[in-house]
Amino acid sequence: MADPFFQPVSGFDLPRFAGVPTFMRLPHVPLDDPRIADVDIGLIGAPWDGGTTNRPGPRHGPRQLRDLSTMIRAQNGATGIRPFERANCADLGDVGPNPADVVDSLTRFTDFYARVKEAGIRPLTAGGDHLCSLPILRALGADAPLALVHFDSHTDLFKSYFGGTLYTHGTPFRRAVEEGLIDPKRTVQIGIRGTAYDSEDRDFAQAVGIRVIAIEEFFARGIADVMAEAREIAGSGPTYVSYDIDFVDPAFAPGTGTPEVGGPTSFQALQVVRELDGLSIVGADLVEVSPPFDPSGATAFLGVSLLFELLCVMTASSR
Ligand code: MN
Ligand code: MN
Repeated sequence: MADPFFQPVSGFDLPRFAGVPTFMRLPHVPLDDPRIADVDIGLIGAPWDGGTTNRPGPRHGPRQLRDLSTMIRAQNGATGIRPFERANCADLGDVGPNPADVVDSLTRFTDFYARVKEAGIRPLTAGGDHLCSLPILRALGADAPLALVHFDSHTDLFKSYFGGTLYTHGTPFRRAVEEGLIDPKRTVQIGIRGTAYDSEDRDFAQAVGIRVIAIEEFFARGIADVMAEAREIAGSGPTYVSYDIDFVDPAFAPGTGTPEVGGPTSFQALQVVRELDGLSIVGADLVEVSPPFDPSGATAFLGVSLLFELLCVMTASSR
């Protein structure tokens, strides 16, 4: 049973449109706060889109996601899980980037997440673009390579952009394999689709043993079958989950930089996360929500709903 200090503010005590917005109305506990020692899972904002190559905006994601997260209640309607009773959860605030320097931002992020790991806290991050995942993996995968379950319409496995630029939101998992942060044979990418520059990313995946499940196979086999394979690939070891909102069809998640049509519905987007139940999840992220392309807030609301589902599978296992 979680400490009462770490319970979210109930909408029965203070209306959900009132108050200072933190992730899911949890207490704000920065890394230098004494209460940090009691935190099990830390929700972290990563307001950085320095790796974005097309339409920008995810640097504004954490603020909009915090705002929309006040819509989240304490109990999962599908599974009945009450995550805030199972683990001490807190909003750790934002990890600060240097918006004018990509490499310095990567260093700042890795240093921050190394402190989170050192404190024994599992991070649940709201991005930010997908390059944010690399410095997180540099901290969490420093000792041994992690398994990775990656939802996306893109592999983000390209070698470089613009003739040699190594750090973009299209390259983080190529770097993560090269640096030994993830085990390619325990990595699965789900939902891949859309037009492509070429097959360089897919060729690399095949060469190193990453399992790529394209959207055609995903729909042909169905969620339960695909996710059973994903759990088998990840295995019982420490696993990171990375969820790009552009995995979801742009009819449901238009507020993102590189949307691809022909994707899962919002219902299917939630279902795949519930199917992660039983994995040993050491951290997770939800990236690429871009508020400038999301004037209705619908993408951010789906984003925080996915963060809540991720939180539920991080706190409970029924398998
Ligand atoms: Mn991505
Ligand atoms: Mn993507």
